[in-house]
Amino acid sequence: MDALNKLFNDERKHFREENLKKYIQAGKIAARVREEIKKVVKEDMPLIEVCETVEGRIRDLGGKPAFPCNISINEVAAHYTSPPNDERRIPEKALVKIDIGVHVDGYIADTATTVCFSPEYEEMVYVAEKALEAGISIIRPGISISKVSSEIQATIERYGFKPVSNLTGHQIGRYIIHAGKSIPNISHFSLERITSGCVYAIEPFVTLKDAIGIVEDGPERYIFRLVKYKFAQRQTEIKNLLNFINENFKTLPFAERWLKRNLGREEAYKRAFAELISQKYLISYPVFIEASLKPVAQAEHTIYVGDKDIIVIT
Ligand code: MN
Ligand code: MN
Repeated sequence: MDALNKLFNDERKHFREENLKKYIQAGKIAARVREEIKKVVKEDMPLIEVCETVEGRIRDLGGKPAFPCNISINEVAAHYTSPPNDERRIPEKALVKIDIGVHVDGYIADTATTVCFSPEYEEMVYVAEKALEAGISIIRPGISISKVSSEIQATIERYGFKPVSNLTGHQIGRYIIHAGKSIPNISHFSLERITSGCVYAIEPFVTLKDAIGIVEDGPERYIFRLVKYKFAQRQTEIKNLLNFINENFKTLPFAERWLKRNLGREEAYKRAFAELISQKYLISYPVFIEASLKPVAQAEHTIYVGDKDIIVIT
């Protein structure tokens, strides 16, 4: 029995180490792209240029985007990515959140930063980073998730700001960005604990004290995900598009920009895409907007929880 146990433990250890290598590789790429883009982003820059630079660099460095580059400005808290032919530009004095996902063989690193062009909001950006650090600093295997959340909230409030209460950190699984447990940024009742061998993204969202502090769904939707894959499709265009999405993105979110580049015949493709949405093969994610239209800052890292120590992979 002992020998069997040892074999099992060795197997488990080997499995973890192999996976961890891929997480670390994804994390290195994500961190590098985040630091690079921070220096490039400027007022008046086209949003699509930011998205495509991030996604291009991820591919150049040997990873794949785990989701479209999110560029969310001011009161837009998350889930904006450029649609095809986006003409929007970074406004003056903007608060620009850039959220980057990289995967290597399905092992995902998720990280975000806020670039601030308004001196008024610099402290809020600093507080998001501080809250992220504070949350990570107390994480260890077995700690209750509500403790981590309370630490994040306390840090944000100590500086006189407010956490966004309905955006959370999350566990990460292979090819799954939001897997299992959530890590809210406000204290709450929960029996859930941080478990060793798991990967989590910690991501405080911070807004002004007099904001409502929740996000609502906006009218725009530019991020999609495959949720159904069965072959009742007869039309070639629809079949081809469905195959393309399944082969390239699997269960990960994607942008319409990523389809256009690869599939010709504009009209037929547009019909097929609309058809897949209406037949619920694809779901779309609404842009999240702070309910009182107050600016939001975000910071995010992905961590691997080992038996003894925590590795910040991004
Ligand atoms: Mn993220
Ligand atoms: Mn995340």
